[in-house]
Amino acid sequence: MNPIRVGLVGVGKIARDQHIPALRANPAFVLAACASRRAREEGVENFHSVEAMLEHCPALDAVAICTPPQVHYEAAKLALEKGKHVLLEKPPCATTMQLDNLVRLAKGADRTLYQTWHSQHAPGVAPAARWLKDRKILGARVTWKENVRQWHPGQTWIWQAGGFGVLDPGINAISILTKIIHEPFFAESAHLFVASNHAAPIAADIVFRTAGGAEISAALDFRHTGVQTWDIDIDTDAGPIKLSAGGGVLTIGDKPVPPNPGALGSEYESIYARFAELIIRAQSDVDARPFQLVSDIFMVAKQSTVEPFED
Ligand code: NAP
Repeated sequence: MNPIRVGLVGVGKIARDQHIPALRANPAFVLAACASRRAREEGVENFHSVEAMLEHCPALDAVAICTPPQVHYEAAKLALEKGKHVLLEKPPCATTMQLDNLVRLAKGADRTLYQTWHSQHAPGVAPAARWLKDRKILGARVTWKENVRQWHPGQTWIWQAGGFGVLDPGINAISILTKIIHEPFFAESAHLFVASNHAAPIAADIVFRTAGGAEISAALDFRHTGVQTWDIDIDTDAGPIKLSAGGGVLTIGDKPVPPNPGALGSEYESIYARFAELIIRAQSDVDARPFQLVSDIFMVAKQSTVEPFED
């Protein structure tokens, strides 16, 4: 089979850190073009817009969308309408109904829509999901505390309406929860803290409740300058289990679990292996639950304004 020719939209931090290296390392793909308003990538055709890229590169097979979530939908829609397979970064869109329509468009066009959750590919997540399958969840705590100035430098979009604020990384924790907890859970209450100079929350305290009645609390904070923490602690009827480093490290009881020797190196290597497999099988992969849970958080939340934050 010929390599899948990919056009990448939005050459920013995640494109340069992860997508471009993962694409170039995978012989199933060739990075053929990029569309970005200002950025340029060496060795490929560059365009200032997704429209121009789709018009001048009709031979593209697929489009990877790495822009901020506010503009995911329009780019994905244009690509599907031109008959391209689409890989979408998280959070998938600005609203849940936009994602719903992309699913419909992909089905109608008979193209693959792969709506990714990169944290679900972290090496501790699959073994945690397997271990939890036969256990009862008694309670869980998510601690997702990071320094926004370190991890999202200059990303003004993250503070704007539709930018998700602290729920941009927070949705990663929720995507891990939906993967490892084998019963439905719901947003019960939330307190969002919004800096007076921004539209999207800088911190959030959230309570979810499982169908079985267990409480899952989540403390998210973008102002954290100490040890950066992306932890999920779960109490079960068979003892505690912990995912730390954003799902990268699994500890069952007090024993660290070594990574599965067959697991792929990075989250994005695994994502692109999955994208190739989906295209070959003519399938899509969309799991809207983390996105719906974030939408529900905004519905049940009370909000407080906190002091301005300069990023
Ligand atoms: P970023 O560094 O701001 O890069 C996004 C790029 O998209 C920008 O550099 C910009 O390049 C382009 N763009 C197109 N339309 C834009 C608009 N209206 N506003 C701002 N930029 C626009 O952001 P990122 O961190 O790569 O994040 C992009 C997506 O990946 C988000 O959905 C994010 O949640 C997700 N993600 C990020 C990370 C991470 O660690 N940063 C990890 C996983 C997933 P031009 O100016 O050249 O157009």
